[in-house]
Amino acid sequence: MTRIHHLNCATLRPLGGALVCGGGRAWTRSRLVTHTLVVETRRGLVLVDTGLGSADVDRTRGPVHARHLRMLLWAALLPDEPVVRQIERLGFRASDVSDIVLTHLDLDHAGGLADFPDAAVHVMTTELEAAFRRPSVSERIRYAPVTWAHGPRWRLYDERRGERWFGLVAQAIEDLPELLYVPLPGHTRGHAGVAIRTDRGWLLHAGDAYVFQSELGNGSSSFVIERFQTHVSAIDDRKRSATRGRLRALAERHADQISILSAHDPDRFEALTQC
Ligand SMILES: [Zn+2]
Repeated sequence: MTRIHHLNCATLRPLGGALVCGGGRAWTRSRLVTHTLVVETRRGLVLVDTGLGSADVDRTRGPVHARHLRMLLWAALLPDEPVVRQIERLGFRASDVSDIVLTHLDLDHAGGLADFPDAAVHVMTTELEAAFRRPSVSERIRYAPVTWAHGPRWRLYDERRGERWFGLVAQAIEDLPELLYVPLPGHTRGHAGVAIRTDRGWLLHAGDAYVFQSELGNGSSSFVIERFQTHVSAIDDRKRSATRGRLRALAERHADQISILSAHDPDRFEALTQC
């Protein structure tokens, strides 16, 4: 049996209340989560994303970095949220983490890499190239090289490879037979989802391919989040839209076989932690 722990590894509190989350007044702060998975496998613990790291919340990366996290991500920087602290509370050690599989390299998804210096870190080649080269202004802002300054053991994946998987394309992840990589580009150049085979079918972590679960049905995202995604956070909004369309089709046709989650939806996180 594949045991999966659902953890919130960075609370984000954007201003905008009802305009962001559909609840609260416009001038109050909303609450988003950063949904991180810890998968118990034969090889060791596998993290799907890390959330922010201990150096982020301890502010040991410096005041400029902390201000960046606050202004760019509205990060609450809560000291008990880094995944390394949460797995210790579950009875594990950092050295039990053998692999980290990243949806992308934004700070709120990869900030905790340095807490696991010995883990193999899986990422799409296109994503790593974008994060290293930072060819546009928005990529110079969103990617922080300090996140990987310790020199992770990268494992790279070519998004053009793979096989058909419920109408999408997926490829095996090295040494991890329970997991598949599913390219979902648009939010960043090499953004990808991670599918995990469970006893009850597949669980697909779709990262930031969408925000609210309502976006996969007939509903839409909130006013603020939709505009933020379109005009600020997506490197290619046409691709982001197409990716979300494919996820909608997946949710509509295969809901009995695949459960999809995004990184930042607080209600979806609560629902899955109660399973
Ligand atoms: Zn994110």
